[in-house]
Amino acid sequence: MLTTPIRRHPTTRVVIDGVQVGGGSPVVIQSMTNTDTADLPATVRQVTELARAGSELVRITVNSEQAAAAVPAIREALDRIGCAVPLVGDFHFNGHKLLEKYPACGEALSKYRINPGNVGRGASRDLRFATLIEAACRFEKAVRIGVNWGSMDQELVARMMDENARLPSPRGNEEVIREILVTSALDSARRAEELGLAHDRILLSCKMSGVQDLIGVYRELARRCDYALHLGLTEAGMGSKGIVASTAALAVLLQEGIGDTIRVSLTPEPGGSRTQEVQVAQEILQSMGMRSFAPMVVACPGCGRTSSTLFQQLAQDIQRYLRLQMPAWSSRYPGVESMTVAVMGCVVNGPGESKHADIGISLPGTGEVPVAPVYEDGQKTVTLKGDRIAQEFQAIVERYVVRRYG
Ligand code: SF4
Repeated sequence: MLTTPIRRHPTTRVVIDGVQVGGGSPVVIQSMTNTDTADLPATVRQVTELARAGSELVRITVNSEQAAAAVPAIREALDRIGCAVPLVGDFHFNGHKLLEKYPACGEALSKYRINPGNVGRGASRDLRFATLIEAACRFEKAVRIGVNWGSMDQELVARMMDENARLPSPRGNEEVIREILVTSALDSARRAEELGLAHDRILLSCKMSGVQDLIGVYRELARRCDYALHLGLTEAGMGSKGIVASTAALAVLLQEGIGDTIRVSLTPEPGGSRTQEVQVAQEILQSMGMRSFAPMVVACPGCGRTSSTLFQQLAQDIQRYLRLQMPAWSSRYPGVESMTVAVMGCVVNGPGESKHADIGISLPGTGEVPVAPVYEDGQKTVTLKGDRIAQEFQAIVERYVVRRYG
C-alpha cells in the first residue's frame, strides 16, 4: 500500500484495563450503547455486539440509580461470556452522587467520562468535580474530560465572552467558543491533577458538530497539551451525511497525527444496527492506512460499459463474505486483514486494478467476450465463464487466503 507514515502528535499513554491509548499506540476505536443501562440483558447484548464488531472501549450512560446499580452486574455478565471490553461510564449532573452511593459501579467501570459543563455551578461544581475525581483516584481509573459545545460551562462562557467584548478588537464568536472549549478542558485537567489524578490517567475531548470547528479546536488542543486525545464529531447525524462529516473531520486531524482514540457518532436508521459506527471508524482508519481490520474490496463504480448488475452484486457479496469470515480468519490467517480484493466491471480498468490488488476479478462489460479473468498476486490465474462466476470466485478467494496466510 502506498502510504506515507503519519507522524503522531506526541501524547501521554493512558492504559485502560489493558487497552493502550496515546503515546504512539495505534488509534483505538470506541463506541457507545443506546440501551437503557438499567436494562441489563439489552445492555449486555449491545455491548457484546459492539465489542464483536471491533469496538475496543464501550461507553454506557450512568444516568440514574438503577443504571449505577446495574453496572457491576453488566460487567460480571460480560466477563462470564468472555467479553473483556473495558466499560466507560458517562456521567452528567448526578455522577458525584451515584459514585458515592454505588462504589461498586465506580469499581466495575474502567474509565469515567466527565463533562465539565454538566457537573454543576459555582462552589457546588467544584465540590462535585472533586468527588468524581476522588472516586477515579480511589479506584485507579482513567478519566476523559469531555467538553461538548452543546453543554458548555455557562459561567466560563459568560466570563470569557465578557473578556472578549472588552478587548480593543474583539475576536469573532466562533473563535471565542473554540477557546472556551479548550480552556474548559485544560482547566479541568489541571484541577483533576491538583486533586491527585495522575497525568497519565487523563484524556481530553472537545466535541463540536461543525467539521471546520472541530479541526480548529483539536489543532489548538494538540498544540497546548500532551494529554491523550479522544476524537469525534458530535451529533454527526444520520446515514451518508453523518459518515461523510465524521470522515472529513477525523481524516484531516488523523493525517496531522492528532487523535488517539476515535468515535463516530452516527444516528442509526430506525431499526439499524449500532455497530455501523464501529465499522465506519474501522474503515476510516483502514482507508488511511493506519490500521487493518478486514480485507478491503476495491470496486469500480460501474458505468455505461457495465453489462449487468452482476458486478455490483458480486462486490457486495464478497464484502459481506469477507466480513463474516473475519472472526474465524483473524486468528487462523494472520495478515489477512490487509488483503485487497478487486471487483471490476469491465476491461478498461479491470485487469490493471486486479493486478494491483492481492486478488481481483474483472467482469465482462457490454460487448466484451463474456469471460472474467482472475488475477492473483498480479498474475492471471484463471478465466471464469458461465452462470457460476460469483460462487467460483468466492471459492478462489478462500483458497487464496489459505495458501497465502495459512
Ligand atoms: S472499470 Fe469499466 S465498468 Fe468500471 S467504471 Fe471503469 S469503465 Fe466503467
